[in-house]
Amino acid sequence: MNGYAGEILRLDLTNRKVSTIPTSKYEQWGGGHGMGSAIFFDLVKDKTIDGFDPANVVTVMTSPLCGTLVPAAGGRTEVQGIGVQSSPIGWFTRSNFGGRFSSQLKYAGWDGVVIEGKADAPVWIDIRNGDVQIRDCAALSLWGTDTRECQQTIWSYVAGNDSYGDWIEPGGRDGGHTTQRPAVLTIGPAGENLSRMGCLIHDAGNAAGQGGFGGVWGSKRLKAISVVGTGGIGIHDPKALLKARLWQKKNYAFKPDDPYPSHGWGKFRGDPYPKTHYAKGRPRSGHRPQACVGCHSGCRGRYENGLGNEAHCTTTAVYPAGKTLDIQRKAPDLLNRYGVNGFEMWRGIECLVGMNSSGAFGPDTGIDCPLDFDDYGSLAFIEQLVKMITYRNDGRGNPSQFGDDLAERFVRAAKKWGILDGDSPDLAKRILLTFPFWGLPVHWEPRIFPDWGFGSVLGDRDINEHDFWYWIDAQLPVEEAVRICTDKMVPFHGDRLMLDHSDDNMYSDHVAKFVSWHRYYTRFYKQSLLFCDDRWPDLLNPRAPGNIGSTGEAEPKFLNAVTGKNFTFLDGIETGRKIWTLDHAIWTLQGRHRDMVHFTDPMYTEPSSDRQPLGMKDGKWEYLKVSRSIDEGRFEEFKTRFYKLQGWDTASGFPTRSTLADIGLGYVADELEAQGKLGA
Ligand code: SF4
Repeated sequence: MNGYAGEILRLDLTNRKVSTIPTSKYEQWGGGHGMGSAIFFDLVKDKTIDGFDPANVVTVMTSPLCGTLVPAAGGRTEVQGIGVQSSPIGWFTRSNFGGRFSSQLKYAGWDGVVIEGKADAPVWIDIRNGDVQIRDCAALSLWGTDTRECQQTIWSYVAGNDSYGDWIEPGGRDGGHTTQRPAVLTIGPAGENLSRMGCLIHDAGNAAGQGGFGGVWGSKRLKAISVVGTGGIGIHDPKALLKARLWQKKNYAFKPDDPYPSHGWGKFRGDPYPKTHYAKGRPRSGHRPQACVGCHSGCRGRYENGLGNEAHCTTTAVYPAGKTLDIQRKAPDLLNRYGVNGFEMWRGIECLVGMNSSGAFGPDTGIDCPLDFDDYGSLAFIEQLVKMITYRNDGRGNPSQFGDDLAERFVRAAKKWGILDGDSPDLAKRILLTFPFWGLPVHWEPRIFPDWGFGSVLGDRDINEHDFWYWIDAQLPVEEAVRICTDKMVPFHGDRLMLDHSDDNMYSDHVAKFVSWHRYYTRFYKQSLLFCDDRWPDLLNPRAPGNIGSTGEAEPKFLNAVTGKNFTFLDGIETGRKIWTLDHAIWTLQGRHRDMVHFTDPMYTEPSSDRQPLGMKDGKWEYLKVSRSIDEGRFEEFKTRFYKLQGWDTASGFPTRSTLADIGLGYVADELEAQGKLGA
């Protein structure tokens, strides 16, 4: 099994038992998400349980590309299970993080970790090659530590206090030595206190933020997983792999002497410098990029003053009101140390400030908010807020119902406080537009971009897949961009109208195909093989001849060089469809019906003109100026078209037996039928 370690680690926390699953049993799913979904389906008998239920199973999975030379694909890890972030149902969901955890896990001999049950006291997992121990936190006083203290304590325990770079012999199955320190994935105090905003942190700033998995781990009394490995990964054709990497880098990546080309589009070629441009006053000097294992193009910053190191994307934007750049950079550090979801916080602060300025808090309202909004923009304000969410108190160590409510997430708190159906309809509208589906925060505008909006509401979370619109300002004729992209979108290739997102075409069969292709591509290539969202897919690329990126050719080239398989790009899309269908079957078993697939009400009444979609106007392609809300009736028609395309029951949205049987999921049909959830 080239590319795979060969075994998946199974941890039963309730009985403190360690066992293994042969990876070959799940190899057909590729890795990562596909394997995680299939394992979850097999192990969780009652899919209607809550995310905090001990019977919830959390998978932490790698891919055959992890720990290899495949660019921007060697360092990611996929996390799945029933989440505690969405509402009204905590969907079976996913998150993903970078760094070196997945490579260490594979070097230790494991393709993934399956976490079951709930420990009787806080524990952490100590993996040294094949030696796996479930250890009590008490001996190291780990419970209660922040994510940095926890990692440092484990590093010292496993590797001693020698300098980084000294040899260690971690022991385990095959012995061996390494200069690496263990890769630790941990929760902070937010997760310990079951905050629904709790996340998983690895190293300084790699976070599995969405889903509330920090809280889920906290409920299992699992503090951390530490892994160090001294082994390697079998590569089918090392020469072909190296050749493919050099080909990809030469033709599609940035050039070190020209990292900032005048045209700022093209994903794989991407800027190797930190994505901290969201912080005000970002200087172009004084920082260096930091990268996940094997990545050609690090996207995180390390700064001279050490603040905000390795924070990424919106986490760096979490506190734009911070009065100084240092405060803005200290804010992500706080989130990462306490283990709080940066994306949720980013949107939540906006709502909190809006609620306060609308007079929602104070003695007259019965909602006692301990925050001093006159101090908004100070370090003390953000620190207090983070601590309130973390400790469910007033952020100063005193009991506070307000803090307890916030730990349940901003939109849940607003609902509990009656703000969503109270006397301030404009405020309620603003909040509901900020959390437009499943109680989750908005990202790219759902009323403008159907891949983002429809893909999210038809799924389990904000898709967070930046695949199509990063090139909106590309200095490239729109028609050419549409042709290049749609030519790659097998099996729907050649249907240019997939990218026509004008009002007329927004709910069409073409867009149903577009949203479907996107779900399939990402489920397999990005979430199962773990090609990084920051650099893949490479659809359009200003470095490449004809601006044609490597996607379609590159992904199977890398997979086949590593595994020796004879996989085509279309094989991956079809596997992605199978994974997407399995996920949908799980949501169906959790209680989803097509009638639930609905945005918040203001999405159907309030127009947005944020950004310009692509589309046809008077027979020509252009970036359209639109101002629109979602047309409720036409969205219902879209759902029917979408379900039909998937082969699901259009009345209920339930998968049908024939569709499931066709893709080898007859056993899933059996379970759906037994639960009365099989489509007609
Ligand atoms: S682009 Fe950034 S997040 Fe993606 S693999 Fe590279 S360093 Fe990691």
